[in-house]
Amino acid sequence: MVKLHDLQFVPFISEEEIGTAIDKVSAGLNQDLANKNPLFIGVLNGAFIFASEVLKRFDYDCEISFVKLASYEGTETTHEVKELVGLGEEVTGRTVVILEDIVDTGNTIEVLIEMLVEKGCLTYKIATLFYKPEAYTKKININYIGIEIPNRFIVGYGLDYKGLGRNLTEVYQLKPNDMTNLVLFGPPGAGKGTQAEVLKQKYNLVHISTGDVFRYNIKNETELGTLAKSYIDKGQLVPDEVTINMLNAEVDKNQEAKGFIFDGFPRTEAQADSLDKLLESKGAMVSAMVALEVDDEVLVQRLLERGKTSGRPDDADEKVIRNRIKVYYDETAILKNYYQKQDKYFGVDGVGGIDEITERLSSVIDKL
Ligand code: AMP
Repeated sequence: MVKLHDLQFVPFISEEEIGTAIDKVSAGLNQDLANKNPLFIGVLNGAFIFASEVLKRFDYDCEISFVKLASYEGTETTHEVKELVGLGEEVTGRTVVILEDIVDTGNTIEVLIEMLVEKGCLTYKIATLFYKPEAYTKKININYIGIEIPNRFIVGYGLDYKGLGRNLTEVYQLKPNDMTNLVLFGPPGAGKGTQAEVLKQKYNLVHISTGDVFRYNIKNETELGTLAKSYIDKGQLVPDEVTINMLNAEVDKNQEAKGFIFDGFPRTEAQADSLDKLLESKGAMVSAMVALEVDDEVLVQRLLERGKTSGRPDDADEKVIRNRIKVYYDETAILKNYYQKQDKYFGVDGVGGIDEITERLSSVIDKL
């Protein structure tokens, strides 16, 4: 295991496997580009080792140059790609081979190809040591791929985490984390808050209720509270961007947590995607969605009853309650599908005594 800054990494791909992958890429290049006098362009900083290994294995006349772009900050890709060192070489009429250490979303490749085409390059090929098919979002064909990897953050063999790790001779991945992260799911009034209070004690987890965080902000008249209030009062969802940023900040406040109970989040697919990314950057994932299933009319009665004492304006008005339930079915219930596809959905009957329901939830959680 190696520690780079605040994160721990464990071995993932051996030097030998990397060597075999580079042999394969180089064999393809030798076969396709014999006597074409290609111009290799290495993408700095990450590709410097791969570029040198490919060059050593290329048997014909060739040239090499480098460009420097940046799209990574920490372990999450940012969308902007900046050109830091430009391309000085003449590329008109030449066969150019881009050498990448890793193709992730494809943003860097897209920008590079645009740059090349603008400079008059008509024939280009792309060779990469690592490729993440699940993360790739572009149509551009990657001609030579060393190793396909799942959507994980890796370091070593030229790749870094905040500047460190490039000198590792094999590739490491973020240490998988044994956090338990539960998405507590169900329509408004299903009893998520009540059960979360019990489960967080029982399993030593941090409970984050986005509804509670919004209400805290409304009470304290923060900017976020003012913004959220207009939506909450009508029983509508607060926009994703606002909610996601808030959730990320709440998770960040609990660096040492053994796991989380997410209550009221995610409520949209965009939120579910962002939660996956956030946990993945910690080497963790959603363990399960446990859903409390309760009949609509029971929900309305429960919420009206709760409204007598909760002080929540969105509990006091039957129209708003019915809208919250409708929003749940229109916008949120699709998440059942999202987690079902990953075999992570567990429905639990949410009608009965509190202890009885806790039992039902625990029997799911204990098996995870
Ligand atoms: P809750 O306490 O979970 O019933 O949430 C109360 C209200 O806060 C909801 O009706 C929404 O207006 C807002 N809210 C809570 N969580 C979210 C979320 N994940 N996305 C959007 N809006 C939310």
